[in-house]
Amino acid sequence: MKRCSQRQKLPALPALLALVVSITILVLGMISELAVAGAGSSGGGDVLRDDFNPWFIQNTKVVRYCIEVDAAHFHQDPATLHKLVEDGIQYWKAEFNQAYLPPINGSYLPDMVSFEPVRVATQTFQIIDCDSSEDIRFQFGILRKNQKIFIDDPHKVIAAAVREQYDTQSLRGRGFIYISPDSGPLQFQGDDLQTDFPWSLGGSGGALFRVIVHELGHVFGLQHRGDAGQIMAAGYPEFVLNKLRAPILAKTKSLPGYFAFNGELSDQLCQAKGFNSKFAEFFGIAEETKCFGISLAKDQVTVTIGSGSSVREVGKINLKPMPNYKTESVVTLYLPEDQRIFKVVSTYARILPGPARKTALIKGVFKGRNSTSERNLLLVMPPDNIRSDEIIESAINPISSWPSIGGVLDGEMILDLMEGF
Ligand SMILES: [Zn+2]
Repeated sequence: MKRCSQRQKLPALPALLALVVSITILVLGMISELAVAGAGSSGGGDVLRDDFNPWFIQNTKVVRYCIEVDAAHFHQDPATLHKLVEDGIQYWKAEFNQAYLPPINGSYLPDMVSFEPVRVATQTFQIIDCDSSEDIRFQFGILRKNQKIFIDDPHKVIAAAVREQYDTQSLRGRGFIYISPDSGPLQFQGDDLQTDFPWSLGGSGGALFRVIVHELGHVFGLQHRGDAGQIMAAGYPEFVLNKLRAPILAKTKSLPGYFAFNGELSDQLCQAKGFNSKFAEFFGIAEETKCFGISLAKDQVTVTIGSGSSVREVGKINLKPMPNYKTESVVTLYLPEDQRIFKVVSTYARILPGPARKTALIKGVFKGRNSTSERNLLLVMPPDNIRSDEIIESAINPISSWPSIGGVLDGEMILDLMEGF
């Protein structure tokens, strides 16, 4: 079972800062601006100064992009491609609009004047013909000779976002997004992948849309993060193009939010092997219970067991009205020495926090239907994406998605009651 608690977490900012600084010293000179998705790629583990910066921040007002297609080997019509790119840009603009923006102030950087938070995806995006003046070039099935240094083996690469240039004064990048053709000599390959014209599957291009969104995420400074089903996971393009999954995902362009948190909580988890003893004891259910469900209405969660017509309520969780949030910057901005955008900068701290995700920490009390005892618990709910893509997966495997649930049992705090499922 995929669990949100297994997702990869970056260390908190001060720790991240130390990490970045130490890695920078270690690997200085090993330049890798690649964010390549594909089996056999290096995974992009190098953390190097401005390499992880967004291609643009708020001082860039207009971004020009162009689209080129190898129509012989890339099976999707140009009008649809234009629409998918446009929708991908809109997806991130809407999402970043909802992100939490950590303020930059004197307490963070003592030598720096207060400045508005780092923002991305704020630009106007303008489509132009490809004439080398573009900031982003979408290359559907096209890889130029001089670009092959970025992509060792095209057969192993579904897509890549490559920043070819970065102006360290204006904090502005330029590059291309490559999407593998679905036929011909450059086509990606892989045993479990849908190699049979995946880009035009389902008419609307839902699989292609997801890959475009992933690559655009890199343009906006997002790094790989999370399990395979999450938009920015390293294996997301492979996840999308999995033989079994691609035909399902291709049908829809609807994507869960990356920053958005809608607070919905309603789900059922069914497992043939039942539940672990701590979980069963906490909720007062039998270990061999097959299905467990939760559903939120106002500030109360109803807990049920059973499925179909035999669903039975076992208790309620009363939620404390105000959730707390844990925030985590998912975009960071390294300030090169010669940058001209930020007026005064500390001489030692050069990494600013950018847009952040919020995880809700909701306290509650569980009261069993047939019991007088009350048990304190904590629901940890990350933004929609972390859960929702796992729901997509349930279309293939009956895997459900959950917030993690911690609780107090026999005086002991258990951080994750479902641990070991
Ligand atoms: Zn990627």
